[in-house]
Amino acid sequence: MTLSVLSVASEAVPLVKTGGLADVAGALPAALAPHGVATTTLLPGYPAVLEKLGKAKEIHAWPSLLGEPARLLSGKLGAQPLLVLDAPGFYARTGGPYGDASGKDWADNWRRFAALGRAAADIAGGAVKRQAFDLVHAHDWQAAMACAYMRYAPFKGRRVPSVMTIHNMAFQGYYPAAIFPGLELPQEAWAIDGVESYGGVGFLKAGMQSAQAVTTVSPTYALEVRSAEFGMGLEGLVEAKGDRVRGILNGIDSAEWNPAHDPHIAAAYTARTLARRTANKRALETEMGLDSDDGPLFVVISRLTWQKGMDVLPEVLDHLVGNGARLALIGSGDSAIESALHAAAARQPGRIGVRIGYDEALSHRMQAGGDAILVPSRFEPCGLTQLYALAYGCVPVVSRTGGLADTVIDANPAALNAGVATGVQMNGVNYHALAAAITRTVALYRDPATWRQLQLNGMKCDFSWRQSGKAYAELYASLVAETT
Ligand code: ADP
Repeated sequence: MTLSVLSVASEAVPLVKTGGLADVAGALPAALAPHGVATTTLLPGYPAVLEKLGKAKEIHAWPSLLGEPARLLSGKLGAQPLLVLDAPGFYARTGGPYGDASGKDWADNWRRFAALGRAAADIAGGAVKRQAFDLVHAHDWQAAMACAYMRYAPFKGRRVPSVMTIHNMAFQGYYPAAIFPGLELPQEAWAIDGVESYGGVGFLKAGMQSAQAVTTVSPTYALEVRSAEFGMGLEGLVEAKGDRVRGILNGIDSAEWNPAHDPHIAAAYTARTLARRTANKRALETEMGLDSDDGPLFVVISRLTWQKGMDVLPEVLDHLVGNGARLALIGSGDSAIESALHAAAARQPGRIGVRIGYDEALSHRMQAGGDAILVPSRFEPCGLTQLYALAYGCVPVVSRTGGLADTVIDANPAALNAGVATGVQMNGVNYHALAAAITRTVALYRDPATWRQLQLNGMKCDFSWRQSGKAYAELYASLVAETT
């Protein structure tokens, strides 16, 4: 039996990406196909999406969708079916998916993403001819209202279950109570077990309340969000949901992230031809204006934010350089962190190379040319860069939290003895923890046999979507079975 799933997201590769959510929403449909799940993705019609969509067929129109005319276009996301919500009043803007070019959030984001949810609920309810679904899968707060609309304002038709996936609990889509009437929900939705949250409207909270199952993107994060430290105010709800909240680890797209066939890198390689990585290291040094030597080259590919521990990184760079190491970094985010990094690069010419911006191709070259990647996140729902690093023989140096704890085996004596270590973990994110992790990593690097073992162990790991695709398919099947 084939299950038809409507996946609702605010970004998906290859059409629009600001972070890991896009990687997951883009890759999951293909991962589900072998397990009898046919996925159609619903995305907002931002200019970038409409441009890449090309000529598309209109299959439905709303004279007013939360106040704006909208139409539904049908196209393809890779080989999988795609629906695009073309509502120019909401999405035809220059800037990013969530804000203007300066990074300031659009003031009407609540209405823009409520409309996405409303459209999803209408589609799931049978409003659009020849579009029938057994389940709706909503990703993050931007899609969360789909679950609430399905619960409170179902279009006439059958009721289907929904799954709410939390990619990051820190982003909840929290708005003042004054927006409630604009959501066009029945009054009963204004309730503690509805969309109300701490006196306002919480989109993610509403999705979690309304969905039949909630998933986080790693098992450890599913446990962590039960505590106040990680639950960000929703820990009580997580606890109340009990075993309806579970963690399913993200996979990586192993066609896109494979050093044997990566068009972005100078020299392709496999575990058997690891020595060829050196050509990539030399190329990266040149590209980033770094000295060329045989000392360890650390890389960072990250949003430059507190969550990612990037405020601590500049403080530790003199220590890193003092240990004979260098750093190549690509990232963007907080301007204070960007300035601190520029200052460190100016202080340590040839040792620290900083690129501010977003560059997908360079991120591949960093994974292929770097010896180790630093991921000192304070919390990390799953994290993808450490998974790409494992596949590329770039040793991950991570904090012991969330998906980082679930995917990297620390090179402690037991793991080294058993021959299973894949990286370095640190406890807590502060100067001392990061400096100690760097010292430990450099020492491991200076023992070539051990280092090679770490690289090979990482490259052997299978963090493709194979297992997680199956886990989602099983979850969908169980929810559909219990509602029919
Ligand atoms: P998050 O989604 O919290 O930012 P993840 O590790 O889950 O973190 O995913 C980040 C994704 O974005 C990865 O695919 C990573 O390679 C990519 N990325 C982050 N910053 C940059 C950048 N400046 N340039 C290119 N790719 C980046």
